[in-house]
Amino acid sequence: MGKSFDIGLERLMGIGVPGIGETQEGGVKPPLHDAGRQDAGATGSTFYLETFGCQMNDHDSEKVAGVLLGRGYRQVETPEAAKVILYNTCSIREKAAQKVFSRLGELRPADEQHGKSSNREDTEEEHKVHRDGRALEKNHPSQRKIVNAGGGKIIGVLGCVAQQEGEGIFERAPWVSLVCGSASYRKLPQLIAELEAGNRRVTGLDTDTDETFETEITRRDNPWRAYLTIIEGCDKACSYCVVPFTRGPERSRTSASILEEVRRLAEAGYSEVQLLGQTVNSYADPSARKMRFSELLAAVAEVRGIRRVRFTTSHPRDFGKDIVEAIEAHPTICDHVHLPVQSGSTAVLRAMARTYSREEYLEKIALMKAARRPISITTDMIVGFPGETEKDFEETLTLLDEVQYDGVFAFKYSPRPNTPSLKMADAIPEEEKGRRLAILMDRQREIQRVRNERLVGETFEVLVDGKSRRESQWSGHTSSNRVVNFTSPERELLGDYVQVKVVSAMPNSLVGDMVGRE
Ligand code: SAM
Ligand code: SF4
Repeated sequence: MGKSFDIGLERLMGIGVPGIGETQEGGVKPPLHDAGRQDAGATGSTFYLETFGCQMNDHDSEKVAGVLLGRGYRQVETPEAAKVILYNTCSIREKAAQKVFSRLGELRPADEQHGKSSNREDTEEEHKVHRDGRALEKNHPSQRKIVNAGGGKIIGVLGCVAQQEGEGIFERAPWVSLVCGSASYRKLPQLIAELEAGNRRVTGLDTDTDETFETEITRRDNPWRAYLTIIEGCDKACSYCVVPFTRGPERSRTSASILEEVRRLAEAGYSEVQLLGQTVNSYADPSARKMRFSELLAAVAEVRGIRRVRFTTSHPRDFGKDIVEAIEAHPTICDHVHLPVQSGSTAVLRAMARTYSREEYLEKIALMKAARRPISITTDMIVGFPGETEKDFEETLTLLDEVQYDGVFAFKYSPRPNTPSLKMADAIPEEEKGRRLAILMDRQREIQRVRNERLVGETFEVLVDGKSRRESQWSGHTSSNRVVNFTSPERELLGDYVQVKVVSAMPNSLVGDMVGRE
């Protein structure tokens, strides 16, 4: 993770204590839980871990950090200070993968430089009209220093680029000595030990494991919201997507192990959990209990101490009324559903192999709109898929108007290796993709502006997770995942649930005043 900490093991016992302490401003809160010590192991070595991509990658990195810390490694803040440098990578779009190779270029040893300078292009590949600005500030080029590997460092590539490019990475960046996909992270200490014992290169690239990546120790970065992977991989085979290749087939955790972890998280002081999966609602309990996803949601919501349950990402095909009913019945299940649509045109959806039509998707939206409490809906969209006509694109725009999303992550189609859409005819020129993306974002920004303005005067419960440098300024998230910036004269609010009255609104956030505290 770009942000990394130098932390002790006492912070990590069990399933991870909420970072005793760091606030987002680096301030210190009293420990929520002191679980005692564990044998730190003998390595005494250091690692630097940086994460690219989605929340699943963020959470995988938390688990990787947990595994290494549990073996006595110490996490450090810069590649310069580390003996082992790890990049947990994303290959969902070409620019995300390029960014990794650009970062690896910065580690090129002096004898490999040949006068080449590092590639510092702006690699921001994701375009969001979304309320959560978190990802935008991550890994900004201005925050980085060029580092020369040298000095016997171990450089490793983890995650989707590792799985996709495999040993090819050694050819493109010969100074890399470890390549490991997400199904093999448990083996990392062993792989590193092999390198330390003199092996030149090691790989962990199986995807056929039927285990999910569960660890005894997970080093969680957010002291209030804990992420939990409940299903790994994906069986959906959308024609543009690398995930089925990079993360392998779907594997679900047992409901008992998920619930046990949630109970331990609650005891450790977490009040919010987010269940993760590429298609989280395709969850299939492998135990005899055979809990449905909606039943699991309800059971998690009933764990004492848990105040908010989130889940992402839902696939429209497996989204049913039972999930809406679970949200209605349990106020602790957040009133927010991220339901990626990708396109408003049935013809394009068919070419994408999304398994639903525009009309079928709208039926799922109707289920949520009919709910007894308002559910905030966000989505992902791709513009410029091969063969997308002006009329298809117009249908995507009318879908925005019809659904009235509260947030949209929009992407230009990026051709990816091994995917069926790579060979499809009628590629859309980059310039045209850019034009469509800009139109879509403008349209959605206006929708969000109007929707958010309607909330002025309302009061929401906010979990406070940020403190501004400006005095009396705080920020947090509502149950519907809206970002709220607010004023309060209180000295300490981080991690608290407070009531905030909205006084003004912007397309991506609300502004308010605190009116109550529990
Ligand atoms: N599993 C989720 C689903 O089915 O919607 C999404 C997972 S994917 C990591 C996140 C988003 O990346 C997708 O919803 C899609 O919008 C986008 N994406 C995936 N492949 C892409 C590609 N080749 N080009 C552009 N965007 C892509
Ligand atoms: Fe990729 Fe489709 Fe699976 Fe989502 S459902 S991860 S877009 S293949």
